Amino acid sequence: MIFNPEKECMSREDLRKLQSERLVKIVKHAYDNVPMYKERMDALGVKPEDIKSIDDIVKLPFTTKKDLRDYYPDKLFAVPRSEIVRFHASSGTTGKPIVAGYTAHDVENWAEGVARVLAAGGMSKEDTVQVSYGYGLFTGGLGAHDGATKLGAAVLPTSAGNTSKQIMLMEDLQTTGLCCTPSYALFLAEEIEKEGKKDAIKLKSGFFGAEPWTEGMRKELEAKLGIKAYDIYGLTEISGPGVGGECECQNGTHLWEDMFYPEIINPETGEQLPDGVEGELVFTTLDKWGMPMLRYRTRDLTHLIHEKCECGRTLCRMGRILGRTDDMLIIRGVNVFPSQVESILLEIPEFQGQYYITVDRVNNVDTFDIDVELREEYYSDDIAAMNRLADKLVGRIVSVIGIKPKIHIVEPGSITRSMGKAKHVTDNRKFK
Ligand code: ADP
Ligand code: ZN
Repeated sequence: MIFNPEKECMSREDLRKLQSERLVKIVKHAYDNVPMYKERMDALGVKPEDIKSIDDIVKLPFTTKKDLRDYYPDKLFAVPRSEIVRFHASSGTTGKPIVAGYTAHDVENWAEGVARVLAAGGMSKEDTVQVSYGYGLFTGGLGAHDGATKLGAAVLPTSAGNTSKQIMLMEDLQTTGLCCTPSYALFLAEEIEKEGKKDAIKLKSGFFGAEPWTEGMRKELEAKLGIKAYDIYGLTEISGPGVGGECECQNGTHLWEDMFYPEIINPETGEQLPDGVEGELVFTTLDKWGMPMLRYRTRDLTHLIHEKCECGRTLCRMGRILGRTDDMLIIRGVNVFPSQVESILLEIPEFQGQYYITVDRVNNVDTFDIDVELREEYYSDDIAAMNRLADKLVGRIVSVIGIKPKIHIVEPGSITRSMGKAKHVTDNRKFK
C-alpha cells in the first residue's frame, strides 16, 4: 500500500516545485532564527533571497556533526522553546551527545515518514507491529512507535532486550511486523530457532535499520524468520528512522524527498555527484522547523537513483549504505568496511553473519583478526576441517578486499549478540 500517494507518486515536475517552495521558506527560517546559519551564509555572501529554487541549494553552506556538538544543546533550534514538544539525543561515544528538538509538526512529519515505510512493506491497520528498537533518547523506538500509530496498526512496544519475553509476546499476540536493528533481528531469529518457535510466529515483514546491513543478511533474515525484510533508514539529525525505506520491489531505499532533500557529494571536494556514483549523502530538511538542517553531511556512503521505480513511487531511491566514512578501517593501506566482511561471510554456506574484527599494529605492521562462527551443523572438533573452512574464507576476503586476515573460528553463539546497533570492531591502533 502507498501511504500518501499524492506525495509519494507526484510528478517530478510538481515535486521540484514543492521542493523549491519549501527550500525558500526553510532557508529564510534558518537564516532568521539560527545565528550559525546567518553567520555561515553571510560569510559566503549568500542571502535568503538568493535561494529561488531547489537548484540554488549548492549555494548553501554544509552543516556537520561537529556543528551539532559545538552548538550543543539547542543553539541550532529555530523556534522558541515553547514550540518544542520532544527531544532526542544520539550516542555520545566521544563526549557530548547531539541533541535534536522537534515541533509538533516535525513529529507529525517524522511519523508520516515511518508510516510510509511500514505501508510500503505491507503493513496496514490490520497489523500488529512489534517495536524492538530501544525506547528512550534513541530515535528508533519512539520513531517506529509513532509511525505505526499513524498507520493505525497496533503497536507492541517491547523495546530492545528481554528476548524470551519478546518471543512469547510475538507468538501470543501474533505480531506481523517487526522493527529492530538487523543485528537484533538475527539474534531474535537464533533464539526463535532454539526455542523451536519458528512455525508458531506469524511475522510477515521486518523493518531493519539504524546500522549497515547487506543483501546476504536480508536473505538470512528472510529465511530464518519467514518474512520479507525491508530497509528503513534515518538519522537523528534529520529526524530519526523513516527518512526513507524500501518498497515491495526491494531494489533501493526510497527517500521521502518532499521532506528531506538528498544530494550525493564528493566527500573531499564537496561537489555534487551524478546518479549512480558513490559518495557522501547530504540532506536538507525541507519541512522541519524545530531544528532545520541545511545540507547536513551524514558521512553515510551511497548513491542515488532517480529512475522511476516499478512500485509507482516517483521519489528517488538510494543504494545500500556501505558504512559511514568514520566506520572505514584502513588496514595496511587498504580501505575496509565491516559490512564487506558480513557480505562475504554470508556468501559462504558454512558461515553465519556474526563476526568481530580486531585490528592492531605489531612491529609496525597492521594485524587484521576476525572472529567468525560457523553454522551449528558445520562446527566440529576436526581441526583439519576447521582449517580448510578458515582458508576458504581467507581466500574470499583476499580476493574481494585485497588483504589477508587471520580467521578465528569460535564456538557458535560465543560472539556477543547485540540488542541494538552492533559493535563489530575494536581498533587497538587508536590506543598506541
Ligand atoms: P548515532 O549517530 O548515535 O548512531 P543515529 O541513531 O541517529 O545515531 O544513527 C544514524 C546513522 O545510523 C545513520 O547516519 C547511518 O550511519 C546509520 N543507519 C541508519 N539506518 C541505516 C540503514 N538502513 N542502513 C545503514 N545504515 C543506517
Ligand atoms: Zn519502489
